[in-house]
Amino acid sequence: MTSLKTASSSRIEAEYQATFPGSMALAERARQLMPSGINHDVRRIDPAPVYIERATGPYKWDVDGNRFIDFCVGHGALILGHSHPAVLAAMQEQTARVTHASAPTPLEVRWAELVNEMVPSAERIRFVLSGTEATLLAIRIVRAASGKDIIVRINGHFHGWHDTAMIQWLPPYERPSSAGVARDIAGGVRSVPLHDLDALEQALAQGDVAGMIMEPDGPVVGTVPVPDGYLQAVREITQRYGVPLIFDEVVTGFRLAPGGAQEYFGVTPDMSTFAKAIAGGSPSGAVVGRADLMEHIAYSGDPQHDRFARVAHMGTYSGHPVAAAAGSTALELLKDGTVQDRTAALADRLRAGINESLHEHGIRGLAYGRRSCFRVILGDDDALPDTHEPAEFLARIDQERLMAGTDGRLKSALHKANFLEGFDFIAGNHGWLSNAHSEDDVDTAVSGFGRVLDRVIDEGLVQSR
Ligand code: PMP
Repeated sequence: MTSLKTASSSRIEAEYQATFPGSMALAERARQLMPSGINHDVRRIDPAPVYIERATGPYKWDVDGNRFIDFCVGHGALILGHSHPAVLAAMQEQTARVTHASAPTPLEVRWAELVNEMVPSAERIRFVLSGTEATLLAIRIVRAASGKDIIVRINGHFHGWHDTAMIQWLPPYERPSSAGVARDIAGGVRSVPLHDLDALEQALAQGDVAGMIMEPDGPVVGTVPVPDGYLQAVREITQRYGVPLIFDEVVTGFRLAPGGAQEYFGVTPDMSTFAKAIAGGSPSGAVVGRADLMEHIAYSGDPQHDRFARVAHMGTYSGHPVAAAAGSTALELLKDGTVQDRTAALADRLRAGINESLHEHGIRGLAYGRRSCFRVILGDDDALPDTHEPAEFLARIDQERLMAGTDGRLKSALHKANFLEGFDFIAGNHGWLSNAHSEDDVDTAVSGFGRVLDRVIDEGLVQSR
């Protein structure tokens, strides 16, 4: 593999610092106050992230007045694009009416009706604040319903950042993915290797499992796509052992199809977790599922049951009226599937353009992903197949290599170069399309991606071969 130059000798980095002086200055102030100067691990860019001041449609502008085509779209939440006029109007109207009623509001009823109508598994709904809260509550519900502790999960799948979700997310899997997770948390989790149905069956057969949680489109936004028939097999096995299956649809929900991955793949789980698109870009999420499971949150009126057999859940901002306004307005616009189909077609165009550019530059790698989600892997190691044909590339690459993705130094340079070329992929290597993007936006980003490749080749970070 080509030797990597040090960051300080990088032209990309020098140009990045010169182009984004306002962000450099803000990062300097931020680092005095906030650990690493940020509030989300994935927003870290060395030496500074680009600070964004405003956004509309598919674009966002930084504090120095630079415009970027945004493929991060609210970490995937904004499938309608930034400040969609109807969503914005609903939020503004609700903000003026009441931002916190300390009571239920009519909008949350409409919001729940829409979720119920759209999502196959949503017999009952409980709104929470984020994807992390959603998986936390879903896990608590299946534990309460079964009286068992063990949650079966899949190595590498991401379910937010609470303690249980930090077990077996990052390799090496035997160590928690964060410091500060109490030792006994791991005892409540049994994780199985990716796409290993025999291991799954063994994990469930022990009879002590409360529920199984997984990302239906594969780990971390489909990094390793699920093989055909896999979800159907997981459904069959979990049903055979009577173990509730939870689909974590925080990313896939309302995006792969109006009813999320469960509609797209035709596999209905017992429970599902949502955030991002469900709330139209405002901070909220939901746990949904079979009535008999979800009713474990319900009050029965029997003090004994309600104190000892009921799942407790509160949250000052749960069912937030502004989120309910944004969410219900967004879901109305996502109901008929037009947006999901259009964004998927735009993503096809982006993936094809990037793959053509990789081919022209003689760089090993692939843009792939399902529907409107995309991910790019590239490098110059022999583990990357020498084809840009998606099915063949994915069939030939080793799962571990695909999970590892683009080398960290190269990815960081790509991220900065993306900004220099006027677009933003999250962490420099993946993202989502929104309905605000046009074909022109996609083509502009593909041209920009070609210049990004010129830059990283020029800098010796990856070799054309
Ligand atoms: N589950 C999945 C599949 C996710 O992708 C994410 C966030 N990207 C989460 C859970 C956590 O959601 P949040 O960031 O809203 O806590």
